[in-house]
Amino acid sequence: MSEKSAAASVLAGLDRIRDWQEEFYRHLHQNPELSHQEVRTAAAVAERLRGCGYDVHEHVGGTGVVATMHNGDGPAVLLRADMDALPVREQTGLPYASTVTATDSGGVRVPVMHACGHDVHVTCLLGAAALLAAAPQQWAGRVVALFQPAEEAGDGAQAMVDDGLAELVGDVDVALGQHVLVFPAGQVATRPGAVLSAADSMRITVFGRGAHGSMPQASVDPVVLASMIVIRLQMVVSREIAPTEPAVLTVGSVRAGTKSNVIDDHAVLELNIRSYSEQARTTILDAVRRIVTAECEASGSPRAPEFELFDRFPQTENDPTVTGTVRAAFDAFFGERAHDLPLQSASEDFSDVPNALKVPYTYWGIGGIDPAAYHAAAVAGRIAKDIPTNHSPHFAPVLEPTLDTGTQAMTVAALAWLAPLHSKTHG
Ligand code: ZN
Ligand code: ZN
Repeated sequence: MSEKSAAASVLAGLDRIRDWQEEFYRHLHQNPELSHQEVRTAAAVAERLRGCGYDVHEHVGGTGVVATMHNGDGPAVLLRADMDALPVREQTGLPYASTVTATDSGGVRVPVMHACGHDVHVTCLLGAAALLAAAPQQWAGRVVALFQPAEEAGDGAQAMVDDGLAELVGDVDVALGQHVLVFPAGQVATRPGAVLSAADSMRITVFGRGAHGSMPQASVDPVVLASMIVIRLQMVVSREIAPTEPAVLTVGSVRAGTKSNVIDDHAVLELNIRSYSEQARTTILDAVRRIVTAECEASGSPRAPEFELFDRFPQTENDPTVTGTVRAAFDAFFGERAHDLPLQSASEDFSDVPNALKVPYTYWGIGGIDPAAYHAAAVAGRIAKDIPTNHSPHFAPVLEPTLDTGTQAMTVAALAWLAPLHSKTHG
């Protein structure tokens, strides 16, 4: 049994599952759920996996689902999908567009849309899990299908880790994840090494001394202090990070004061930081603390500043060997539809799972855009203008070949471990 023939044999079943996959997808798209609220999605996922014969654990880290299938001796492969939607009002005009609203974690009623395509990921992983379950003679080992909550909040994967994921899944050899992105449907794209940025948000509170606006001598003015910090922070990336290393430090919010003739007693700054290496990340976070602390001292601040990190996403750095194995399998199966993925500025919490399990991983992209529309936009030099990106209210992956390709990619990649070339586990 060769890897290629195993993939071809397993994927021969795609014709039998496509109808339910498309129906499942449309239903999911029309019924999106916010981060940590993926209750009905998780239940539907669990039900379908049980129907395929998987051993299913629900409520892992809240709404997470872990499904396992043992099939003789062999490697264990973890396949991951994320389930949550976004507070976006859908404007795609699709017949299965969402009109759902929900109450977010802050108690605000918001529209909800699968604007990042996590409904694609769920449907494709369910399809791959079903196909593998239906063809046990083509592979050996253990499949772990993991459906995580709250990717958009950045803490869903960690919640599953904190809820005993390592014990639940046992020893795993490799972890695989995918995301639908803005390139032509039918294509897959891989990248070894850094693929997604690390993201950190930081809330900084600096303290002054309040006084009348006419008596600055009695104050420590937090507005001036915050202003100095904003300017000084512009020098972190430009002066402390190598020009060859991409990084971003944005001060997205500054709040202080209520009235022109009152000097407030504190200011709050919110920063967003993107980096592509642990070293750059540490350099930037250390520099922020150093500069803020020093500026507070320079201003005569009566209290030390307070730092709070939130909305943190780890760096996604694909293992070169694992990525090479997946790429070779993609080249064999997809041929010219397998491409290189450019470095992405977005962030993901996928790597929290393999990092916690101490296993290598790779994360690839699948195209979701109608190939003709993409080609027309490319010819006109208007891709950025004409093709809605993930998180846009107009983001609308074409049903096919997006679902087929994502299902094939997950299956082909899993089989690169479960049915390695020339293996003879099942004569
Ligand atoms: Zn997203
Ligand atoms: Zn996403």
